[in-house]
Amino acid sequence: MSVFRTVDLPCPACGAAVGFELVASVNADRAPALRAAILDESFQREACPACGTSFRVDPRFSLIDHGRRLWIAALPLAERRGWERAEAGANAVFERAYGAGASATIRAIGATLRRRVTFGWAALREKLLCDDLGLDDITLELTKIGLLGRVASAPIAHDTELRLQGLADERLVFAWIRAAGETPIEWLQVERSAYDEVAADAAGDWAELRAELAAGPFVDTGRLTIASTAP
Ligand SMILES: [Zn+2]
Repeated sequence: MSVFRTVDLPCPACGAAVGFELVASVNADRAPALRAAILDESFQREACPACGTSFRVDPRFSLIDHGRRLWIAALPLAERRGWERAEAGANAVFERAYGAGASATIRAIGATLRRRVTFGWAALREKLLCDDLGLDDITLELTKIGLLGRVASAPIAHDTELRLQGLADERLVFAWIRAAGETPIEWLQVERSAYDEVAADAAGDWAELRAELAAGPFVDTGRLTIASTAP
């Protein structure tokens, strides 16, 4: 079930109260329109009735997509620094739904699900995009690591992250996203073959990093670069 509650939040530009319908969980099988709204970046976005400024509320919900075998704990970007603690929390939520206390049928379904934790809208959207484009998210993260070794001037900073935006003419299109407002600041394209080469090398040079990335539900280069701190 997709559960909503309504809250009023102050407009960041003028302070007027703006009503938001927030979700605790998104069921993509029953409500595909919500999944589509995450992809087109309209989900949990409202325009201020007083001044017209459009803004979003940070994600804090779980997404279940049985059809695509995906379960995600979608959390605010600001909590990424505490990713180890967030992983533990997400694992506990998952266990309550699909773990020892569930029926055999539900446990069997849970065993087929890919379990993920994401921070911020761009990271969540990227996971859904991977499914739509037939890309494996672990391989995509490895491809990013390979890319960063080759680009001369990447705007790497503590508040930027590289996120897939789409696939165009057999090229993967990435954007550097700045944390504040989650806005793209620079674009980067790479031949899809770069991804295919990493995918074909599953047991080779990439095996060790692949295992590190897949060691928990936070499947993201951030788990290699961000020293997790308790929030
Ligand atoms: Zn306003």
